[in-house]
Order: sequence, then C-alpha cells, then structure tokens
Amino acid sequence: MHTSRAIIIGSGISGIATAIRMAVSGYEVTVYERNSYPGGKLSNIRKDDFHFDTVPSLFTKPRELEDLFEMAGERLGDYITYKRVESTCKYFFANGKILTAWTDREKLLKAFAEQLEEPAENIQQYLNLSERLYNSVGKVFLNNPLVKRRLLAKRSFYKAVSQLRPYLLFDTLNGLHEKNFATGEAIQFFNRFATSMGSNPYSVPAMMCMISHAELNGGVFYPEGGMTSITNAIYQLALKKGVRFRFDAAVERIICGGDNVQGVVVEGENVFAETVVSDADIYFTYRDLLCDENTAAKIAAQEKSSSAIVFCWGMNKIFPSLQMHNVFFSGDYKAEFQHLFSSKTLYKDPTVFLNITGKAEKGHAPAGKENWLVMIYVPSGFTTSSNELISFARQQVLKKLRGTLKEDVEPFIDTESIIDPVLFEKNTAAYGGALYGISYNTKRSAFLRHPNFSRKIKGMYFCGGTVHPGGGISFCLKSAKIVGELVMKNGIPKH
Ligand SMILES: Cc1cc2nc3c(=O)[nH]c(=O)nc-3n(C[C@H](O)[C@H](O)[C@H](O)COP(=O)(O)OP(=O)(O)OC[C@H]3O[C@@H](n4cnc5c(N)ncnc54)[C@H](O)[C@@H]3O)c2cc1C
Repeated sequence: MHTSRAIIIGSGISGIATAIRMAVSGYEVTVYERNSYPGGKLSNIRKDDFHFDTVPSLFTKPRELEDLFEMAGERLGDYITYKRVESTCKYFFANGKILTAWTDREKLLKAFAEQLEEPAENIQQYLNLSERLYNSVGKVFLNNPLVKRRLLAKRSFYKAVSQLRPYLLFDTLNGLHEKNFATGEAIQFFNRFATSMGSNPYSVPAMMCMISHAELNGGVFYPEGGMTSITNAIYQLALKKGVRFRFDAAVERIICGGDNVQGVVVEGENVFAETVVSDADIYFTYRDLLCDENTAAKIAAQEKSSSAIVFCWGMNKIFPSLQMHNVFFSGDYKAEFQHLFSSKTLYKDPTVFLNITGKAEKGHAPAGKENWLVMIYVPSGFTTSSNELISFARQQVLKKLRGTLKEDVEPFIDTESIIDPVLFEKNTAAYGGALYGISYNTKRSAFLRHPNFSRKIKGMYFCGGTVHPGGGISFCLKSAKIVGELVMKNGIPKH
C-alpha cells in the first residue's frame, strides 16, 4: 500500500502539532527544522544555573492541548502537568495603584472595586460580553478555515453574526473601554489585551474584546518545568507517533510542478512529498521558498505586529513584593502605542512585563536568587541590532522598575542575555522580528491573515502564528487542527 508523504517546514509548536495530526491519519511525516532544537519561539535559555523560557508563561486554554493528545489516543497528563495559577498577574500602575488579577471571579471583582474603585458590575458586564462574543463569533471564526462558502453554510455563522452590533465593528477597543469603565486604570488594564496579539488598542476593533476571555474567564495555567515543557511534551508525542525530525536542516525551496506541490529542496537535495505544510513565517515562505515575490510584497505591505526586547536577568536576590507575572504600566499608554505603530521608535516610558518562573519552580534559579524574564514591546522592522537602542531600552526599564519598586535593581543583575527584534528574526525566521506576523489593527485585519491553504498550489498548506487564526499557543494549535482537517477532507477547499 502506498503511504502518502508529508513534509512540515519548521518545528514551531504548530508545525509539530500538524505533524502529529497527519501522522495519526496515516501520513509518513518528516519535519525539517533549520535550528538544532524544536520549538521555535517556544524554547529556553539556560545561563549560569538560571533557566529562562523565551516566552512569558501565560498559558491559556489548555483544552487545545488536551484535544491534540486525545486525538492521538494519549493522555496529556502522561506528558506534562500544569496547574491553574491563583492570580494571573500583578499590575503596577504609574500612579502607584496596584491590582492583583485573581483568577477567582469574586476575588477579581472585589480587587477592582477595592484597589481601583472600578464598580464590580462594569467588570462583570464586560467579561460577559467578552465570553458571549468568544463563544459565538470567536468560535466560528477561529476554528474554521477562511473559506466563505464553508462559513456561509454554517448555522453557527448566522448565530454569531446576530451577536455583532455596529459599535463592535466601528468603535476601537479603547473606545469601547472608555465607554464601559469608570477609571483610567480599568481602561488601561483591558487595553493591554491587544498586546497579546501584538496590536494597538487604539486601532483594534472593539469586537476584539473577546480576546480577554481566554485569560480572564478561562484562567491562566502554569506548566510544570515552564513553557518549554509544552514543546517537550508535543515533541515526545510526535516521536511516539512516528514523526521524523531533521534538525539543522533548512528548507531552501518548495518544489511545485504545474498546480501541485511536489516536495522541497533541503541542502541541495530534492525530497518528494504529496503534501507540504509550512510553519515558517508566511512572508519568508512566499519570498524564499515559493519564490513568489508578488504575494510576499502584498504581505509585507500590511501592518506588522509589534516585536519585543527581552532581557533575561539572573538576579542575586529574592523580591517578595513580586509574583510570577508582573506588569508595570506606562504612564501614557496612548503615547507608547503611538511610538510602537506610528513613529516606530522606542518610547521613554514603556510598559514592562516581568515574568519570574522561579517563584513556582525551584530548579529555575539557584537558592536565594530569581530568574527575571523582562520584556517590553518595541516596533517590528528593525534590520540591524543597535547597542544604542538596547542600552536605551535597558535604561528605561531599569528606571521604570526603580520608580515603582523604590529600589535600584541593576546591582542585583548577576547574569544577562538579551533578545532583540533582529535576534528574533535570526533565531526563528520571524519577518522584521514581528511576534505574530501581521497585526489586527484594522477592521479587516483578521480576514487578511493568510488562510491555512494555498489557493493556487494543490497540497500546499500553512500553519503557525503568522497565518489564520494567529499567534499564541492556543491559536497555533488551532491552525494545526484546521490544516489537519483540511488535508483529511482532501485538499483544496472551493471558495
Ligand atoms: C516574546 C514572546 C512572548 C510571547 N508570549 C506568549 C504568551 O505569553 N502566551 C502564548 O500563548 N504565546 C506567547 N507567544 C507566542 C507564541 O510563543 C508563538 O505564537 C508560537 O510559539 C509560535 O509558534 P509557530 O508554530 O508559529 O512557530 P515558530 O515558533 O515561529 O517557529 C517556526 C519554526 O520554523 C523554523 N523555520 C523557519 N524557516 C524554516 C526553513 N526554511 N526551514 C526549516 N525550518 C524553518 C524556525 O527555525 C522555527 O523553529 C509569545 C511569543 C514571543 C516571541
């Protein structure tokens, strides 16, 4: 019997998940990865006895991961354990107010009322709206390929559309928040969720308020061992299901014959397959692998999501006032986004995200010390690393932390590694260092993301954070599921 062969380009979380789905369906699957390790953006750095995940540990919607393991006939718990965290994040506002965002609803509402003087009913109403939209519009849109014919055939599509009101399409997220909340702090708190899509709350349509549903209604989870445990778990599952991995093996080109995909070129050698799935950044997939300059140029012309600078600091002190996730807000959020998306420069008062997995995990830092993953969002598109830029960012971060914690933290930095936008591009082939491909900044952005299949080339599919439905672990797992289902239904959906 002839077994169909599939090639996956890239071992990001979505690439591995797609490989598992196809292997379970009977394909002979090989994953080619240009790095020497799996996981792409979701990996780790180990330096001087400190462990740093390369992404903060905001793990939401573990159901997507459970679903993958169940489909493969395995128990997720045999590969990874995770627990719900009691509070998602501690927020420090520039005016000195502090909010602990509890995952327990009653405690969260109480904290808003007592710590920020934001009426509990405003929060409750908003979270209800976010949940309603996620469960209607979100579910239809995020779980299906962008195929008009298929969407129009679904009853759930019409139910979802009936939830939409003009203000959800025509107002911005910030506009909705200004109308909904009484305090500037609550507005800033909810505006932050646009950044989890690398986007701008002053442009993103109000409908995207559904994005906070995952974290605030569904909760945040911590995988034992850190975020890389997720990569390790699905990598082990893939090996068990017979997926073959080739590391240090960059795909140079995708081979097409007529309208069909035929395979890839790796290190000068042709490797043939009936199905090719690219988990690589969609811009580079078109520019370098499919040699389709026109489509690449169209993708490049769309507004990109933001990038980040990440400082991995091994601190030789314990900071009891901090928890695992901490956010230090900018005093002028609007100005920060103006710098991120309009002037494309670094802002002097950036919002700082600080993740300390050592608070939950003994092995992540030596006794009496902490592993700080400090992140600020910066514009994407930098083409060269600049010491000046990094040094400016570092000074602003230290200033912000000093101002809030009333203590200079710089003398406690034992060891340091830095990831800037250029290194993001180098390490994971992310175009312009953008974390999630194109942004969601316009009403049409969500529909402009590249679909999970090729309209021109039979057998060619796309998964991962730069295509539909977007970045973040749960969305990446969704794109893998969509691709798996499309391949099984064979092939090319009619539009
Ligand atoms: C700083 C940061 C913070 C984040 N925070 C969170 C968070 O808190 N919660 C959350 O859920 N998500 C978060 N994310 C997002 C999440 O990490 C990503 O969306 C997800 O890991 C992307 O997976 P992917 O499948 O798209 O592949 P990627 O991780 O982008 O990997 C693609 C892989 O393809 C390989 N590749 C590219 N070209 C080729 C080629 N030609 N040949 C062979 N291999 C190739 C690359 O080397 C890479 O390994 C964050 C991301 C970043 C960077």
